[in-house]
Amino acid sequence: MPKYFADLSGESPVLTGENASHLISSLRASPGDRIAVCDGNSMDYCCEITEIHPRQKQVFVRILNVCPSPAEPHIKASLYQAIAKGDKFEYAVQKCVEMGIFEIIPITTEYTLAKDGLSENKLKRLQAISEAAAKQSMRGIIPRVLPATSLEQAIMDSKRHRLAFAPYENERRQGIKSFLSRKIINSNETAGIFIGPEGGFSPGEVTAFEKNGIERVSLGPRILRAETAGLVALSAMFYEFDELRASNDG
Ligand code: SAM
Repeated sequence: MPKYFADLSGESPVLTGENASHLISSLRASPGDRIAVCDGNSMDYCCEITEIHPRQKQVFVRILNVCPSPAEPHIKASLYQAIAKGDKFEYAVQKCVEMGIFEIIPITTEYTLAKDGLSENKLKRLQAISEAAAKQSMRGIIPRVLPATSLEQAIMDSKRHRLAFAPYENERRQGIKSFLSRKIINSNETAGIFIGPEGGFSPGEVTAFEKNGIERVSLGPRILRAETAGLVALSAMFYEFDELRASNDG
């Protein structure tokens, strides 16, 4: 069953625009067909199509039932990802959205190669990638890609999280497995993950993490690409805190 993000509030719930076009032209949907609609706030609506008006690009539906989206993790994780060149950042957005990230905060660091931050257009493109990945992975929200910020501001922002850590490629003492095994995070609490750029974190940045209680962790003895590391850290955290259970798995 295809899934759409739409606002179904109001007297006669209706899908319009791209959603309607996809249903009408690509899927050739007809009245009686069932579709899944998500309101973008982690609620899923099972709907039945009642009327289709192709010229007005409107697909009217009847809501059969509403339930919390099973695809949303209980832990809301923020990815503080150093801006990377080319499509690397796009890859990181796509994969972490599939994995269940809550929001993505691009950061500029000392060794960030893409010094000029993110243009308006680039930000729009990244948000569109997040939306496409959210639809494809049947998410209950469309994770936001926020405007770029400095590492210093990101560290300040991360103080709201129950758990914030920085995978650091030169960390030799503490692996992510032992680090997470000593931590507790409850449902609806939040976490922050810092990922450096192609050039890694500078010594000054590592000190800033230390001074602000953000622990460094190793993701293993191999050097991961920046666009891979966030996904690995997120997967490990979700594995540790039971976010990788099947929908009806206990
Ligand atoms: N400076 C590194 C080098 O010498 O090749 C490359 C940095 S890596 C491409 C980009 C980021 O991914 C790092 O800053 C870190 O956040 C994360 N990362 C990559 N491999 C890691 C590992 N084995 N352990 C922890 N973090 C890692």
